[in-house]
This record gives sequence, structure tokens and C-alpha cells, in this order.
Amino acid sequence: MVLQTIREYDFSGKRALVRVDFNVPLKDGKVTDDTRIRAALPTIKYILDAGGSVVVMSHFGRPKGKRNLEFSMAPISKKFAELLGRPVGLASDVIGDDVTKEVKNLKSGEVLLLENVRFYPGEEKNDPEFAKQLSLFGDVYVNDAFGTAHRAHASTAGVAQYLPSYAGFLIEKEVKFMAPLLENPDKPFVAIIGGSKVSSKIGVLESLVNTCDTIVIGGGMAYTFLAVQGHTIGKSLVEEEFKDTASSFLAKAKEKGVEVILPVDHLCGAAFKEDTPAIAVDSVEIPQDLIGMDIGPKTVKLVVAAVEGAKSVVWNGPMGVFEFDAFAEGTLTVAKALAACKGITVVGGGDSVAAINKFDLADKISHVSTGGGASLEFLEGKVLPGIKALEK
Ligand code: ADP
Ligand code: MG
Repeated sequence: MVLQTIREYDFSGKRALVRVDFNVPLKDGKVTDDTRIRAALPTIKYILDAGGSVVVMSHFGRPKGKRNLEFSMAPISKKFAELLGRPVGLASDVIGDDVTKEVKNLKSGEVLLLENVRFYPGEEKNDPEFAKQLSLFGDVYVNDAFGTAHRAHASTAGVAQYLPSYAGFLIEKEVKFMAPLLENPDKPFVAIIGGSKVSSKIGVLESLVNTCDTIVIGGGMAYTFLAVQGHTIGKSLVEEEFKDTASSFLAKAKEKGVEVILPVDHLCGAAFKEDTPAIAVDSVEIPQDLIGMDIGPKTVKLVVAAVEGAKSVVWNGPMGVFEFDAFAEGTLTVAKALAACKGITVVGGGDSVAAINKFDLADKISHVSTGGGASLEFLEGKVLPGIKALEK
């Protein structure tokens, strides 16, 4: 997958229409996590430094196709200006005559942030007419909204039909780290997949089994796999309707010679509660009245050993209920193993990234993806419409 990137365009005197993902958490009108805004700054600064002007667009929340100022970009524009270190104009709307004037007035080096693109139903419908109106605001289209790249919306995909289109640095980086995992990863390649459900991760398992040498299955989804192997899983999470899928996956992995690591011991709880004490179960078999809530120390050792020798590692999905302190150890130790690994390490998925941040290890990981759903779909081998539009 080769993308056309902003390095290949001369922005001098040009107006760039830049799609970013500023769908950040807000509390009492303040941005509580500015990671996504920071992630888009290199691209915007690059265009401004090259002598261009920038019209920025993003969605925020779910205004459902209506102008609802509860979802205005206003609080986000303040934080954006502060982080960019330059004034940012906030457009009066997304499209229309007023916005057209505001855009026309923009001079080289200036930035205008459009209102929430989801104020219009044409955005999520990928309406060609709406996309065309957006396209009139730029000489060139730049997409750096990796977190929304799995959606075929007007501002993420449709607009690329009307303008020369380039990937920003964030999308370039996401693809640079993730594409090789599906194509030709440095080996040995270890995939660590966890989280709550087989149903949401089976796609990524079935995709990565084609390129990886070892797959670790942890978290709540592991018990469905253990159950099909005939183990007792007590009251642990299980998806009965995915047992067949799980067993055919195990057969496929075996056929391909991919090693599968499943939990060999557990930390259990008597109830799914924050204050339930951890009970160590030093065997694969879980007693009838207990719930598996984290991988045990022997399993952790197996995972750490696999990661140690790996040249590439991808991790998606926590190993246990890490939100409860008594069941965070497995996830923490695996996160530390990735941080210590000398190979290429990639972490994707909302909760896994939250875990990495909670443990303050993000700067020791080669790449922490900014897109939960988008990174999952990417690793499933799906074509992301927002990225396809930028391919050479
Ligand atoms: P990600 O967002 O990284 O892709 P998921 O959303 O698939 O991860 O799963 C994260 C959730 O899985 C967490 O809320 C975590 O508590 C839950 N989880 C992990 N292990 C277990 C378990 N043993 N039982 C129930 N839930 C679990
Ligand atoms: Mg999640």
C-alpha cells in the first residue's frame, strides 16, 4: 500500500482542506485529553510553514445531521489554537455563503476551523453534493483523520473525488507501522489479542494468523477458546454462539503452524466487582463458582518470553479486567514487556491504548495507534475508505 503524502505537494500559496479527527473528550467545556489534536499538529504546521493556508474540518460527537451547538467545535478550537501557537478562526458553519467568504479571506499562514461536519446529514451519508461543496474550500485535500478512516463519509472519502488528495503525517505513520504486519512483518511476529469478546476480535485473529508466528489469546475472549478445548471455565465470559468459530480458528492456526498461547493459569474473582479479591487458580481449569478475570503468573511468563524474542509485536485488547486494580497485573506486565521489546511494537484498540497510557508507557512503544475502530479494521485487512482515497 503506497500512499500519496503531503511531502509530494507544494503548498506555497495554496489552500489546503484538511480533515482531522478532533473528536476529543470534553468535560464542562474543556478538552480533557488533547492527544488527537496534538497528533494532527505536524501536518498542519508543515502546510503553514510551506506557505499554505489551512481549512480544518472534523466531526465531534453525534449531532445527528443537525446544527446543535452542544456539539460545536468552539471549545476545541480554543485548545487547538493554544497547542498550535497561532490564532485559529472558527467558521460560522460548515458550508454556505458565509463560510465561503470566511474561507476566501484566509491568507497564507492562516487557519480556519469549520464547524462540526456532522451538523449536515450529507456528511455521514457521503452525499456527493455535500462533498463537492466542501471541496470548494481547498485547492488540495489532505486527510489526517486516521480515527475516522474506516468511515466512508463526505469529509473522509467523498471529497477526495473532487480534489488532488494526500495523506498527512499521522495517516502516513499509522500505515507505515501497520501495513507491514499484514504484508511482510519482521519475524518472529507475535500477535497478542485480548479484550472481552471473540465476536469483535475474530476478524483480526483470522487476518493476523496469515502472517504471525505466535498468537496469544487473553482477556475475556480466551475462555470461549478454553471451553472448546474441553476445559472447565467456571462462570467466566463465554460466547456459546462463537464456539464453532473459535474451534475452526484453532484448527486453522494448527494447519498454518502458528503457535497459539492460551491462559494456563488465572486470577479469578467470585463476582464481577471492582472490590472482589483476586483468587489465584494455578491450573487451566477454573472452579465452578469462579470468574476468570486476568491471566495468571505462569501465562504472563509465557507471553513475556514470546515478546522478548520477537522482531514485531502487535497488541490489541487487554489481558484482563485491568480497570479493576486486582486484575491489572497481566495487562501491566504484558505492556511492560512490549515497552522493553527491541523489535517493532504496535498497540491498537481503545482500551489497550488506555491501558498503555494509564501505565505511562506510550513513549516506549514504536507506534500507539490513534484509532480504536480504525486500527481494528485495518488489522482485519479491510480496506479503509479514507485511506483508499489516498493510494497512489
Ligand atoms: P480494545 O478496546 O483494546 O480493543 P476491547 O474493547 O475488546 O479492547 O476489550 C476491553 C475490555 O475487555 C475491558 O473493558 C476489559 O475489562 C475487558 N476484559 C478483559 N478481560 C476480561 C475478562 N476476563 N472478563 C471480562 N471482561 C474482560
Ligand atoms: Mg474497547
